[in-house]
Amino acid sequence: MSPKEDAIDILVVGSGLAGLTAAITARQAGAELVLIAESQDVVGGSTRLCDGMILGANTRLQRKHGIEDSAKNFFNEYMAWTQWELPGGLIKAFTEESGPAIDWLEEQGVEFHDLVIYGGSENIPRGVVAKEKGQGIVNVLAAKAKSLDIDIAIGQPVKSLIIRDGAVVGAIVGDDEVFARSVILASGGYGANPVKVAKWWPNATSAGDWLWYIGADGAQGDALDFAEQANARISGFDRGLRLPHPNFVNAQEPYIPGWQIMVNAQGTRFVDESSPYGAVDRAFSLNDNKGFIIFDDQALHVDPDNEMPAYKQVVPAFGKRRSASWNVPMMEEMIEKGAITQANSIAELAQKLGISPEQLEHTIAQYNAGAAEGIDAFGKEAKFLRPVVQAPFYGKEIRPATIAATGTGPMIDNKARVVDHNGDPIPGLFAAGEATGGFLGYVYAGSGNSLAGCASFGRIAGKSAASTL
Ligand SMILES: Cc1cc2nc3c(=O)[nH]c(=O)nc-3n(C[C@H](O)[C@H](O)[C@H](O)COP(=O)(O)OP(=O)(O)OC[C@H]3O[C@@H](n4cnc5c(N)ncnc54)[C@H](O)[C@@H]3O)c2cc1C
Repeated sequence: MSPKEDAIDILVVGSGLAGLTAAITARQAGAELVLIAESQDVVGGSTRLCDGMILGANTRLQRKHGIEDSAKNFFNEYMAWTQWELPGGLIKAFTEESGPAIDWLEEQGVEFHDLVIYGGSENIPRGVVAKEKGQGIVNVLAAKAKSLDIDIAIGQPVKSLIIRDGAVVGAIVGDDEVFARSVILASGGYGANPVKVAKWWPNATSAGDWLWYIGADGAQGDALDFAEQANARISGFDRGLRLPHPNFVNAQEPYIPGWQIMVNAQGTRFVDESSPYGAVDRAFSLNDNKGFIIFDDQALHVDPDNEMPAYKQVVPAFGKRRSASWNVPMMEEMIEKGAITQANSIAELAQKLGISPEQLEHTIAQYNAGAAEGIDAFGKEAKFLRPVVQAPFYGKEIRPATIAATGTGPMIDNKARVVDHNGDPIPGLFAAGEATGGFLGYVYAGSGNSLAGCASFGRIAGKSAASTL
């Protein structure tokens, strides 16, 4: 069979935000035969499970709320946040597309709450929140795809690429050869595949058997296999987003409550505990991936009508954020079970936790002195500072053990073309979303970082692939 005669225009691998966006964009840009192959029996991947927060600069919603922003602002913040390690051309393309991509989602029918939030510690709020979260986005885009005659073949894994003379000309989908003028990899991350996590993100394995993945089963890292098959450059080694948890329950727990103190194995604090989760994740990496939460008896006697604030990020549409781990009934249960260590003095607590008693006493004394004045060495806001003074005292080990997103995959250029080891595009091969590498830095840039990449590079990949027809 000659690839050209039977070829469809575009084969998209995966039906999450990146894949749906790429397919619809390609169709709207003139591609006629577009097929999405989805390995699972359900459309939407991790996107359908997610919270639906997306970052974008200069969106309609920002303008409506009188927020002045620009792609340049976002670029500068993103590059600073990721310590200027990422390819600037790629990030420029991303930040320029980020706002239009959100406006485009709205035009397709995705509904956003009428607000703009901070995703992390950016200077200008640029996060939007989809009504009905990720499932809402998937529902709208899947319906849109259907209305454009884009087939979504569920239960049809792409097993390998078909490559002729160095160009990708199709893929094995299920048991069939499907020839396509372009293939767009949008197959998500590899969080559900422990072997790939060990190979591509060894830092994450420090969490041992506490490690768990909150995303979808289809996140098997197939894009890494396709990248190797096509001799593509793989980028983003040892990157992704982990959230800390104390191993009580497997629940999504993005933030450490601000009233807590966290110390490292030496007994010293190492981060403002209320920081955005990307910053906390990075701080863990720099501190042997291990922390201890320290608190006192006051935490067990909170007045529900007069609680201390716990979180910096406020998403009015989500209501009051509740911790699955650090609520009174759960803490009492864990103390009872011995999973939280209890002691009558800080020195005794340190001893039981295996931390230097002198160091922990010093750390707590320093924290308490600052709290009395509303000042914190790590810059934590005064509203979160509660001195640790009331025996009994409690401690619990915590690890960055929840994988929320992975950041390793085939490297793309600013047109979402997968590149080879020389940085040259591989003909016929594009990629977008969590499947790609080189877009996330060592510090995840805040709520909405990943979906922003999916939407932006989904748009770019769809346009680029269509332009080659
Ligand atoms: C609980 C949770 C909350 C989150 N909240 C947010 C948030 O608010 N904001 C944010 O920015 N990020 C968030 N994230 C991360 C974000 O949701 C994901 O990074 C993003 O949805 C990935 O989208 P994607 O299109 O790249 O991949 P996915 O949505 O995972 O889609 C990839 C699809 O490809 C399919 N696939 C895989 N291999 C193959 C194959 N060989 N053949 C065919 N199909 C294949 C998969 O089954 C899957 O359906 C969250 C993640 C989780 C789990």
